[in-house]
Amino acid sequence: MTSDSTATALLPRVEGVCAAAVVAGTPRGGPDHEIPDPATGGRYDRVGWASRGDVHDAVQAARGTLPAWEGTRPRRRAQVLRAIAAEIRDHADALAVLIMRETGKRAAEARAEAVFSAEYFDWFADAATMPTGSHLLNGDKRYLVGSRPVGVVAAVTPWNFPLSIPARKVAAALAAGCPVVLKPSELTPLSALAMLTIIERHAPAGLVNIVNGDGEELTGALVDHPDIAAVTFTGSTRVGTLVAQRAMKTMTRVTMELGGMAPFIIDADADTELALDVLLVAKFRNNGASCIAANNVYIHRDLYAEIVPALADRISSLRVGAPEAGSTDVGPLLRPEHTERLHTLVSEAEQQGCRTWKAEIPEQGWFYPPTLVAASTRTSLWSEEIFGPVCAVRPFQDVDEVVNEVNSRGTGLAGYIVSADTERGLTTAARLNVGIVGINNGAPNTPEVPFGGVGLAGIGREGGIEGMREFLEPQTITLAR
Ligand code: NAD
Repeated sequence: MTSDSTATALLPRVEGVCAAAVVAGTPRGGPDHEIPDPATGGRYDRVGWASRGDVHDAVQAARGTLPAWEGTRPRRRAQVLRAIAAEIRDHADALAVLIMRETGKRAAEARAEAVFSAEYFDWFADAATMPTGSHLLNGDKRYLVGSRPVGVVAAVTPWNFPLSIPARKVAAALAAGCPVVLKPSELTPLSALAMLTIIERHAPAGLVNIVNGDGEELTGALVDHPDIAAVTFTGSTRVGTLVAQRAMKTMTRVTMELGGMAPFIIDADADTELALDVLLVAKFRNNGASCIAANNVYIHRDLYAEIVPALADRISSLRVGAPEAGSTDVGPLLRPEHTERLHTLVSEAEQQGCRTWKAEIPEQGWFYPPTLVAASTRTSLWSEEIFGPVCAVRPFQDVDEVVNEVNSRGTGLAGYIVSADTERGLTTAARLNVGIVGINNGAPNTPEVPFGGVGLAGIGREGGIEGMREFLEPQTITLAR
């Protein structure tokens, strides 16, 4: 494994502390905060926090690069994006160390995230060169529909994918011809700071700037700034709602990628081994902290008695430990508050009589045992986004009940179906009011396809050609013939 010193060498610093901001290529300092290592609870690094003044300067720097970047030929923009992708790949091991240390994510998953981040730059390099206009001849007029970059994009990101979510926002905006100010999660800013070091070797100074610090203060300053044309936010539904409301005061465009409550449906005809394999990926990937994680597992009544004990065995034998150990299946949670929250939810379910099965955990570090809960609809666990290694299951009789329950929630990011009958799976998928469905697979995302949800799961899409269109403003020109 790459050493920590090689990894942290990618971080821009001011007087030994990771930069609070990088504005027009220059690192800036700010009041110093600790970044802990969740596997030990000890300090990993220190990072500065930026001010509103830094936000203003970052937006101005980005604004200054807009004319040249929007005028840059798409093929040249694509070259820049490909060069960034290549260098992210070259540094994938070092980036993986930063991702692993600041989130507690397993080493293999951290490395996969680094490579996946490079793939977003590759995909948006391709997307940048695709024609985006259209032409309509209609009676005595011609309609030419072109599209222009919206302007400076503010990108606000969560802690759980500290590299790939910043990558998919920055790559899409750059492909569209837009400069960016990125505000990563203040809980996990290191991976994004390292990405900026790489970006700056290939892009003009000021095209991408970064500000780290207090979420409310810095996001607020970005959203309110008159030179911000679009806000792309990924995070909780609670915060996303506040950010969207604020943006609407000035009708600033928003893309919102918010919390998920993915149903996971094991149908009566499912192969039980396949169902368990797929569920373990969909539930425990990223230590359970994924927006598309299986949240509510519905098992057909005919299979319930067979699947629950087998699932309890699989979950109880998950190996919980240090993220760098090759044998680890599930690592630590980000902060002690996250383990306490799960403890409260699971204890409440137990007090209500729900049966639970748990894995073993190490004594030190912020771990929560992978847990199976035979839930009821009354438990808070069933109606909240779990966002951790706890698997809540219930039996169902008829898929109509499940579809009705899922569609009545008003939120739909992802969903999963395990069925031996593909047609039946596709029919159920079409009835679920969600943005993404995995049928017989637990990892339904790739950069080439749109990613996003409906209702309280958000507005707009990332990835796919749709991800770039979020940052393009159509203009219709009507010509008299
Ligand atoms: P969060 O909402 O707490 O934070 C997200 C961002 O908002 C951070 O940058 C944070 O600094 C900022 N922020 C916090 N409080 C703010 C405020 N009052 N005003 C403005 N900005 C503020 O989310 P999190 O805990 O970092 O991430 C977990 C959540 O993100 C989960 O709900 C998860 O489902 C969701 N998520 C969604 C997707 C998706 O693509 N739909 C992907 C990953 C995570």
